[in-house]
Amino acid sequence: MAYQITGHTRLGCLLGTPVSHSISPMMHNEAFRILGLDCVYLCFDTKNADLKTMVQTLKEMNVYGFNLTMPDKERILPYLDELSPAARMIGAVNTVKNEDGRLIGHNTDGIGYMQSVKDTGYDATTGPMTLLGAGGAASSIAIQAALDGVPVLHIVNRRGRSWDNALRLADLINENTSCKADVTDMAKGVAVKACIKDSLLLTNATSIGMAPNTDASPVQDTSCFHPDLLVSDIIYNPRRTKLLLEAQDAGCRISNGMYMLLYQGAAAFQIWTGKEMPVEEIRQKFFQ
Ligand code: NDP
Repeated sequence: MAYQITGHTRLGCLLGTPVSHSISPMMHNEAFRILGLDCVYLCFDTKNADLKTMVQTLKEMNVYGFNLTMPDKERILPYLDELSPAARMIGAVNTVKNEDGRLIGHNTDGIGYMQSVKDTGYDATTGPMTLLGAGGAASSIAIQAALDGVPVLHIVNRRGRSWDNALRLADLINENTSCKADVTDMAKGVAVKACIKDSLLLTNATSIGMAPNTDASPVQDTSCFHPDLLVSDIIYNPRRTKLLLEAQDAGCRISNGMYMLLYQGAAAFQIWTGKEMPVEEIRQKFFQ
């Protein structure tokens, strides 16, 4: 939070439901304090709110911007004036910037994920990637990975709710980027193993393995794990999922979802303020 709330203090916020558990207020307010910016960030639960009215009010209050979490990432689209190319392809927005009354929608989830992978020293443009999942988070990651130059993307999902979205993502990527994307049914064990064997990066963007179901893993047969494989799980509770523990045992490098959370916030902060979030200080304070 700003050192002192003044008549000039600008407001930003998180909309969605539930929001009270979010780490975003701590992260952004501490970054404002460190950089001496006269801004604050709060959470507003939209469970009983009319989103259209809420957005209009935020605009009239001249907020610098806001974040959206579920279920508002898609519901916000009709109320925005413009979308970033990635947000348009993903079809969801987690960050809005108020540019003199024009609301511009961005999606920083995929940016945050790709930065967390870069942080491990891995260059995602060097080899194929297998992405498990085709839900909300997976969509952002798939599109950003393709835009960032991942050459081949194997999307793996069960023939469930998100199957059609997996096919849509692959089509979008093949039509709009130089990445070659394909889709594999998670139930086809041999085909899934072939995808992982071909890859240098394996990303779990399903909720399999998330607390309390910590004895579950999206990969049943880990014989396809190889020492050149970076295994990354976007789940951050627990910090080490069964998938990551098994990958570590197989000699793979591993990475968890904490830093995706940090870097999606850092990207939003930069969009709003034009300044880099002091990520090292924020990491030490809230992401240990
Ligand atoms: P969604 O519900 O949108 O997507 C969930 C995905 O997991 C879908 O592809 C779904 O397939 C698949 N899935 C779920 N259960 C099973 C199962 N039993 N077997 C096979 N597939 C399954 O959720 P999100 O994309 O929003 O979130 C996914 C995970 O990512 C969560 O654990 C969440 O906490 C984490 N996350 C982490 C973030 C971070 O910053 N680190 C940010 C956002 C999310 P289908 O739909 O076809 O059933």
